[in-house]
Amino acid sequence: MNKQQFVSSVPRAAYVHIPFCRRRCFYCDFPISVVGDKQRGETSATISRYVEVLCREIAQKPVQSQPLQTIFFGGGTPSLLSTEQLQRIIATLEERFGISPDVEMSMEIDPGTFDIEHIKGYKGAGVNRFSFGVQAFQEELLRLCGRAHTVSDIYAAADLIHFVKVPEFSIDLISGLPNQTLEMWQESLEKAIFLAPTHISIYDLTIEPGTAFGRYYQPGDKPLPTDETTVQMYRMAQKILTGADFLHYEISNYALPGHQCRHNRVYWENRAYYGFGMGAASYVEGKRFTRPRKTKEYYAWVEAGAVIDCEVTPPSEVLLDTLMLGLRLAEGVSLDKIKQEFGSDKEEEILKVLKPYINQGWVVVEAGKLRLTDPEGFLFSNVVLASLFEKL
Ligand code: SF4
Repeated sequence: MNKQQFVSSVPRAAYVHIPFCRRRCFYCDFPISVVGDKQRGETSATISRYVEVLCREIAQKPVQSQPLQTIFFGGGTPSLLSTEQLQRIIATLEERFGISPDVEMSMEIDPGTFDIEHIKGYKGAGVNRFSFGVQAFQEELLRLCGRAHTVSDIYAAADLIHFVKVPEFSIDLISGLPNQTLEMWQESLEKAIFLAPTHISIYDLTIEPGTAFGRYYQPGDKPLPTDETTVQMYRMAQKILTGADFLHYEISNYALPGHQCRHNRVYWENRAYYGFGMGAASYVEGKRFTRPRKTKEYYAWVEAGAVIDCEVTPPSEVLLDTLMLGLRLAEGVSLDKIKQEFGSDKEEEILKVLKPYINQGWVVVEAGKLRLTDPEGFLFSNVVLASLFEKL
């Protein structure tokens, strides 16, 4: 694929943001609105209104002849939607773009936000991959993070997911939480495996400014685990999950063979994707665009025609994005592709910048690919990427 084709390729992936949560978790800075513990799609006028506007945004896109291959409902908490609301959004996507018969349709769901009727309804609407926001298996940690669910909610929800038999079931866990010990982390990993998912995502906590955690804690200070402990947590996850037959296919993601997330691979391979909804990012015709993060502004933007007014990403940034995202994958980045798209002098330049890390064993060049080693290269990916950013 040359640069021109790259820029003009038609997205076959769509991200849809559902920005509602029962409460705001103390570490979260996502664009969401809090609806309280009692409201959900069936009862909340706010959610109904949002679905209206969201569908209006999608419906403003020109009809496309190449159907979507992946759709991802993220949030927020998409499992606060009623089945009818979800069906309506899917029908709008179908009408504009078409949906491939072998689509991967993912939905983020949180424990305690759905019952058997909802999960059956979501599956009936076409969802074939549930991404389950567990985060931790210790009551005290869930409370400390301001999560709206308990450990018993996790087990009850997992039973419902297994009952409807979806082909793909992913669990999210967070490491580096305040008061989290290595023993707790080991317990969470083992309990997650026990729930028989096909995929596990591991996130290391980042303290974001403007969040409750940002006010309570200083990165590196107690009760947050030390950097040394979080590195041990990363190594422990790698050891336990690969020991349970999960492939460490991306810096933060593990999958049983044949169960990688196709949608997220679109991002890591720096391919085009649509984004719909408040705060959602898209990458279409070479333009990266983030929608307004506040409800009123998002509604006004859709009302005014949902215009994407930004520049096409310049080739130097496309190269950095390709490296930054592609090096997250265990298989790495194709040097042939780099040569083809950006020229052989760029390939040489990259190899020169990475030489010290190749010598150190963090980066490997083999079979025409450039990749980080697991776990060392992954652990020091920030250092490697920082020098690419600085020198390219
Ligand atoms: S459930 Fe997810 S999106 Fe919602 S507040 Fe918590 S972390 Fe943020």
